Amino acid sequence: MTQLDDLMRPDLRGLTPYGAPQLEVPVALNTNENSYPVPPEVVADIVASVASVAPGLNRYPDREFSQLREGLAAYLARSGTDVRADQVWAANGSNEVLLHLLQAFGGNGRVALGFTPAYSMHPIITSTSGTGWVDGLRGIPGGGRFDLDPESAARQAHDADPNIVFLCSPNNPTGTALSLEVVEAVYEAAPRAVVVVDEAYAEFARVGTPSALTLLEGRPRLVVTRTMSKAFALAGGRLGYLAADPELVGALRLVRMPYHLSTLTQAVAVAALRHADAMLQTVGVIKEQRDRIVSSLPGLGLEPVPSDANFVLFGGLADSHSAWLALLDRGVLVRDVGISHYLRVTAGTPEETTHFLDALAQLVSDPSMKGAP
Ligand SMILES: *Cc1c(COP(=O)(O)O)cnc(C)c1O
Repeated sequence: MTQLDDLMRPDLRGLTPYGAPQLEVPVALNTNENSYPVPPEVVADIVASVASVAPGLNRYPDREFSQLREGLAAYLARSGTDVRADQVWAANGSNEVLLHLLQAFGGNGRVALGFTPAYSMHPIITSTSGTGWVDGLRGIPGGGRFDLDPESAARQAHDADPNIVFLCSPNNPTGTALSLEVVEAVYEAAPRAVVVVDEAYAEFARVGTPSALTLLEGRPRLVVTRTMSKAFALAGGRLGYLAADPELVGALRLVRMPYHLSTLTQAVAVAALRHADAMLQTVGVIKEQRDRIVSSLPGLGLEPVPSDANFVLFGGLADSHSAWLALLDRGVLVRDVGISHYLRVTAGTPEETTHFLDALAQLVSDPSMKGAP
């Protein structure tokens, strides 16, 4: 390995790759996927769409993915925003969208700020693009340990003077959404930064939680990223997107690989978007399971963090890793996100949730499994 280390970029040496385990288990609740399969009528349209573009696969895809952009803009318009197609960008998952942002606005000698714990890929994509990372802090004295208030966020953004700021709302892994005041305050406090609000879980937010899409007007440095991987139940389709000022979107053409969205990806995503209602029909059930987890855990002596997403972070475990293993022994795969005394669980089907809650109840009936954070 020493030899490979000598060959490798010095800033990558010793880093660990993103690695949520992909294990065959009865109940997989570790990557915040939608547990429900794609509905049959959507499968039929996806298959027909793929069949109709297949003969043309000898040609490169539409580099501008125009039909897909129209579909994504129309989808965003459903939530009452007036995002136009020229404000939309898409790539193979929102992770690739984030990479494009870093390639265009980060890079050597430049800095990105995020407030951890947040999405683990933000610092990883940042460093692979050669961008420096500043680890901002969450927590409000006398308030929530994982909350972020406008004053603290703005002060940290001002001090770091970054080129990119990552905000995540609802935040993975903690679950709670940010107030729009935080976004506005950070935008003002970091005048040379592209401010990215990662809204991968927006569709699961509790009623009355506004999207940062409503702040786009008049803020040419603001970017809101979304994905079809979570509420939209299309993680395997690999389609993420963003909404921003058309000029900022134009800059991303400089860094994307030519024809980065395959004809098949475009056809599948366009077909799925035609059936947005069917694709989203499970969101209500999933939110009910999330709320059920949040309301059940205190009865087991555990401490859930309130959630606007399809997962719940909960504390009160003596040791996260042994609790993670004990759940796995009972066929339930959850996520150890590296926060001591806490684990994160995805809200799945009612049956999966029952299985998880039963396994957890068995586990904590052994008092040595519990411990104060
Ligand atoms: C799951 C997730 C994504 C989605 O990634 P894709 O590449 O679109 O599948 C993005 N951001 C956050 C915070 C996530 O949790």
